[in-house]
Amino acid sequence: MFELIIGLEVHVQLNTNTKLFCSCSTNFGDNPNTNTCPTCLGLPGSLPVLNKEAVKKAILFGKAVEAVINNNSIFERKNYFYPDLPTSYQISQLQRPIVQGGTIIVDTEDGLFKVIKLDRAHLECDAGKNTHLSDCSMIDLNRAGTPLLEIVTQPDFRNSFEVISYLKQLHQIVRYTDISDANMENGNFRCDVNISIRPKGDKNLYTRCEIKNINSFKFIEQAISYEFNRHVEAWEDGVYEEEIFQETRLFDPEKGITKSMRGKEEAMDYRYFPDPDLKPVFISNEMYEECKLEVELPRAKKLRYREIGVSEMDIERIINDLEVCYVFDYFLDSQFKLKTIITWVVNEWGSRIKNEDYLNAKTPITLTDLGSIMEMIEDNKINKQGGIAILDYITTKRECVDSVFVLNIANELDLLQDNNSDELLKIVKEVLMEQSSNVEEYKNGKTKLLGSFVGQVMKKTGGKANPKLANELILQEIGV
Ligand code: ZN
Ligand code: MN
Repeated sequence: MFELIIGLEVHVQLNTNTKLFCSCSTNFGDNPNTNTCPTCLGLPGSLPVLNKEAVKKAILFGKAVEAVINNNSIFERKNYFYPDLPTSYQISQLQRPIVQGGTIIVDTEDGLFKVIKLDRAHLECDAGKNTHLSDCSMIDLNRAGTPLLEIVTQPDFRNSFEVISYLKQLHQIVRYTDISDANMENGNFRCDVNISIRPKGDKNLYTRCEIKNINSFKFIEQAISYEFNRHVEAWEDGVYEEEIFQETRLFDPEKGITKSMRGKEEAMDYRYFPDPDLKPVFISNEMYEECKLEVELPRAKKLRYREIGVSEMDIERIINDLEVCYVFDYFLDSQFKLKTIITWVVNEWGSRIKNEDYLNAKTPITLTDLGSIMEMIEDNKINKQGGIAILDYITTKRECVDSVFVLNIANELDLLQDNNSDELLKIVKEVLMEQSSNVEEYKNGKTKLLGSFVGQVMKKTGGKANPKLANELILQEIGV
């Protein structure tokens, strides 16, 4: 039996307005090579000037993971040549990174938790972007010099569940603290997986392979499982030494396999040395205090939601979406029932805010509207279908904003629920008469039919009946 040993390196692009050592814009998607200057092009005589915002964001991250902030860190040159690296070196941090240590607590597969130790987080420059066509290659240096925070863990992961659990939370942390947009498709959040195996009980570490730049959680899982099997097979076939060496591999999402990219360099291959153009970074107490961690972190939110009885599935949905999370917390402070808030904020509103119709809506649904809908639901003034009709109506047709708007719509669409039980009882009786053979079957144990009785009643009332009341009356009439 073998066990999996994994350590992660995640490159997070910080969302500063300008690059790490010059004032070029970091805007994504601008025309190629328009956001460049002598510094990020590596022209002779240009000098780097450190972006204070990037330092502050690194400090904020350090605080979020309870790490040590080195008040004296240094920038080094990591030398290598690549066409998208015009300076022929990357400015990075080796000896003394800005953030040292720290922890992130993750959920494990058996419902418990585990502490993942961070080794470090350091600031460095990103490279540009190469695009290879059939007969030529193109280089865009807009990204060259944008600030990255590289977050490195210890080899603490033992399965991909823990890895994904960590990555999801890290992704949330950098968005909650607003240090990165963490858009995986734009490459704002890129993961390198260092993976090796060993027989269970063995304390040694064996040869690790690095799988580079995977930008989807699904692919990371696939890559880990492929690589684990490759190592185990080599070990069992007695060809571990010949087949597994320290190297960098790429994941091919179409085939679901990893492929060798290049032999892995050791730190010495890069001839690191302190950048003579940059002084050590000194972080004063004043600056340290200035970086305030004012948000509730995802782990704390998760525990708080568990405490009040939100299901795991709903928790995931809420904490993964900052907008939903904000509105959910806003209504938690109100008098509404938890179930109402989950249905209307998380399920109904939350599932609409990402779709085209909603994004193109004339006026967004306000918190007041949402509150009014929930209030009318809880007061039995409208039923669920009515609430949905109102949400859709506001999304597509709304032209004005006023506080009684939701009630007006309910009136206009004739959605106000009929809670008159005498009226409803007549309809219930009618339906049960029509369905008499089904009523017999119901009495003989086919209890699933209850839903269809309610459905018939709803239909006859044009959707305006209170389904709960209808339900009660039906049961009362059938006499069970
Ligand atoms: Zn520049
Ligand atoms: Mn790096």
